[in-house]
Amino acid sequence: MSFIIGLDVGGTSVKGIIFKDGKAVCKDSLPTVSGEGLADCLFALSERLAAAAGTQISRISGVGVGCPGVIDAFNGTVVRADNLGLFDYPLKSLLKERIAEVRVCNDGNAAALGEAYYGAGRGFKNSVLITLGTGVGGGIIIDGKLFSGNRSAGAEIGHMVIKEGGKLCSCGRRGCFEAYCSARALAGLTRSRMRRDPLSPMWREYNLRTADGETAFKYAGTDPSAAKVVETYIGHLVCGIANLANIFRPEAVILGGGVSAQGERLERLVRERIKKEIFAFGYAPVEIKCASLKNDAGAYGAAALFTIPSAGGKL
Ligand SMILES: [Zn+2]
Repeated sequence: MSFIIGLDVGGTSVKGIIFKDGKAVCKDSLPTVSGEGLADCLFALSERLAAAAGTQISRISGVGVGCPGVIDAFNGTVVRADNLGLFDYPLKSLLKERIAEVRVCNDGNAAALGEAYYGAGRGFKNSVLITLGTGVGGGIIIDGKLFSGNRSAGAEIGHMVIKEGGKLCSCGRRGCFEAYCSARALAGLTRSRMRRDPLSPMWREYNLRTADGETAFKYAGTDPSAAKVVETYIGHLVCGIANLANIFRPEAVILGGGVSAQGERLERLVRERIKKEIFAFGYAPVEIKCASLKNDAGAYGAAALFTIPSAGGKL
């Protein structure tokens, strides 16, 4: 019997799934402990998962961790994760004192692996996951393996510029994909449209504080202002997707994060416009799919660092 645990560190909670002989058997979560206490939090969740699966932590063959920020996957160090208050944090060494084998990767990369092997990307050798959440992240799978670049600092999809000299991004550069396509950017676009259209039906339910990434989609069928927001947003999204598709030519681009809750509607809007933007689309089409594992993708992918031997790339 072999047990593997996959953990996904989020801003508010750490989610975990335990696998018995390659099959997910239990999941659980704990509130995220920021700063130095993170390793203890991950260990506590691992112990709970082991107990829930009827075993002990000493019988766990490996724990995979997906963590936000810049991760040195070779050494298992969190180089920097501003939101967690971590700098040069030796996560793997701290856990290795108590757990047989530990592997750490970036959370977006973990989610890309999860979707590729257990979710919407199953059956595709090449896929790109784009997470449209508070920021824009994701990961790139090439020939079934995670591509993470030099010292695993690559695949920062959100910081590809789609508009030179454009909006200021959280990274300090201008015009990044993230500055236009995060759920936060979509909410900002919605608010600025609402300001210009005091008669928009969006005002009936929302104000400038409560308008979010769903508002425009909700009213797009009845309100021309909301429809314009969606059209503009999809235009930015299609630009970024086409850039990634032209470089990597995956069989599928998978959309995750909060905005992907729009499901088939989002898929359809992107599909309608993407064909004209992708080079030689007819020769090698690119499928557009929404992620299927939702909040579990990161934990599945972190476990895949062990359960799928060929998936870990250079790890
Ligand atoms: Zn940026």
